[in-house]
Amino acid sequence: MNNDILKILISQDEIKEKVKELGQLITKDYKDKDLMVIGILKGCIVFLSDLIREINLPLTMDFMVVSSYGSSTKSSGVVRIVKDLEKDIAGKDILIVEDIVDTGLTLSYLVEYLKSRNASSVKICTLLEKPDRRKAEVDLEYVGFHIPDEFVVGYGLDYAELYRNLPFVCVLKPEVYS
Ligand code: 5GP
Ligand code: MG
Ligand code: MG
Repeated sequence: MNNDILKILISQDEIKEKVKELGQLITKDYKDKDLMVIGILKGCIVFLSDLIREINLPLTMDFMVVSSYGSSTKSSGVVRIVKDLEKDIAGKDILIVEDIVDTGLTLSYLVEYLKSRNASSVKICTLLEKPDRRKAEVDLEYVGFHIPDEFVVGYGLDYAELYRNLPFVCVLKPEVYS
């Protein structure tokens, strides 16, 4: 697996420090709220499990699985909900936890969807964002790192379902994709 790596973009230590910082911010911002963390599977799992342990507040959690129609490398903006929420979210202060925001099409759909189910507030926390690629307007309240338009894996992010368990964020060698 390590032979497939071209370069490490964000190290394990940098991630650790950033996650701590985000957790402290969220703890401060949600002190008097009814925080519910919603993870978008599967990319969120590593980030979410580290992040919630840095949030020093009572919170509940749920997960969604969504799939975007179209090819695997291009978001179409039409989102299909594969696994929906298990409980009512009316009155909850929702924090969506994502691995990466690319075009923003998936999240802009999800924010509207969660608002339509009468959440009190809906905000987004993403580990990574690619600002150059935005196609849909989304407010990103908490962002770990801004990265250039390169396909990255690790710390939850996959290529063909592999590499999610790498403890850092990296770019793969071109030959891996061929
Ligand atoms: P979008 O913001 O374009 O609607 O979709 C974002 C989703 O596309 C992410 O949740 C992720 O699954 C996938 N994605 C976008 N960029 C990358 C990337 O650089 N690496 C990986 N592994 N997935 C990506
Ligand atoms: Mg994702
Ligand atoms: Mg993926």
